[in-house]
Amino acid sequence: MGSMFNPRREAFNPAVRGYHAVYRPNGVNHCPGCGRSHWLIGRLLAECGFCATALPLSDSAVRGATPVFQSRGSTLTDLAA
Ligand SMILES: [Zn+2]
Repeated sequence: MGSMFNPRREAFNPAVRGYHAVYRPNGVNHCPGCGRSHWLIGRLLAECGFCATALPLSDSAVRGATPVFQSRGSTLTDLAA
């Protein structure tokens, strides 16, 4: 029976991992499961609103678990008026 730790094993290389689906916030994202584009966006994942396929956000590794507040349409000055 071998040990869990193998010092001869090569380090993980993300450049050779192949296709990796992610959710990109600044574009139209089609679900790889059903092809639709309605998403429920969380802090680390985006989930398809129809088939519940979950994709990691493309920049979640950079941003970490900090909350994201995005505004579309009206601005704070519009709301104050
Ligand atoms: Zn879907």
